[in-house]
Amino acid sequence: MTQDRILMAHGSGGLMSQHLIDEVFKQAWQNEIMEAMLDGAVFEIPAGRLAMSTDSFVITPLFFPGGDIGKLSICGTVNDLLACGATPLYLSTAFIIEEGLPIDDLKKIAASMAKTAREVGIKLVTGDTKVVEKGSADGVFINTTGIGIIPEGIDYRPGRIRSEDKIIVTGFVGDHGLAILAQREGLTFSTPTVSDCAPLYQLRDMISKYGDAIKCMRDPTRGGLATVLNEIAVQANVGIRVKESDIPVAPAVQGACDMLGMDPLYMANEGKMVIFVAAEAAQSLLDDLRKLSQTQNAAIIGQVNTGPSGMVLIETELGAERILGILEGEHVPRIC
Ligand code: MG
Repeated sequence: MTQDRILMAHGSGGLMSQHLIDEVFKQAWQNEIMEAMLDGAVFEIPAGRLAMSTDSFVITPLFFPGGDIGKLSICGTVNDLLACGATPLYLSTAFIIEEGLPIDDLKKIAASMAKTAREVGIKLVTGDTKVVEKGSADGVFINTTGIGIIPEGIDYRPGRIRSEDKIIVTGFVGDHGLAILAQREGLTFSTPTVSDCAPLYQLRDMISKYGDAIKCMRDPTRGGLATVLNEIAVQANVGIRVKESDIPVAPAVQGACDMLGMDPLYMANEGKMVIFVAAEAAQSLLDDLRKLSQTQNAAIIGQVNTGPSGMVLIETELGAERILGILEGEHVPRIC
């Protein structure tokens, strides 16, 4: 490609669009389904229930410690499929690119998507690119839509949650939100903050053996852990009680949040899962989670009770109890 930046003509649908697709995307994502170059992806699906999830990514900056918008765009959709209990199979993607974006940046993003997709075993099978005038977008926005198959016996949904179920979070909370905020604001801390952005495929491979002892899973992205707990308390019509001292927060993240007046329980995560599990299976699941590198800091943080329904209570470090509310307004904008 002779140009080093995106031009409006790259979105023309003509020769330059073709070059862009061939040199940036097809090279990175090669697979037999995409190579057929039909108007859409054509593939076989196994019999059973499918899960489908879509997400758009508008994060700024495009590259951050621990990831980039490409990696994030795979992790976000893959983790949503995993939260549905699905094994991710196929992914589509759409790019809205701002005129002037360096083509090298786009190549890095496409390569990062390919690498992350390979780790998970999900195939990028169809895509679209559009170009908008300088000032009409911010670098690049990416949408991904994924489908996955749900194995027999897996049924994760809030309606199955019962009083006494335990709540597990699979690791430190708040890392992603803080890493993005720090980079954007040029803040440096003695321990650098790194996003937890990761596709949780280790969880998929391990967790299926727990079958219906797992009641529900959700990834605590925007709004953080506190918001997910509130959403689920309402959807499941139960009360939730957690203990602040049991919630894993990296010391560096806690320190930085204290300094900035932020609460890590409301900060976004991009490589964590909140799991509601039957009490009798909780310890065994926790032991298994702690054996995996992606979930080694997992912890049981609380349990479900009979009420007041829809309410999340937190026992503070000092032994007091308060309501842990849902996120109000915007905490850190454009973090995913
Ligand atoms: Mg989600």
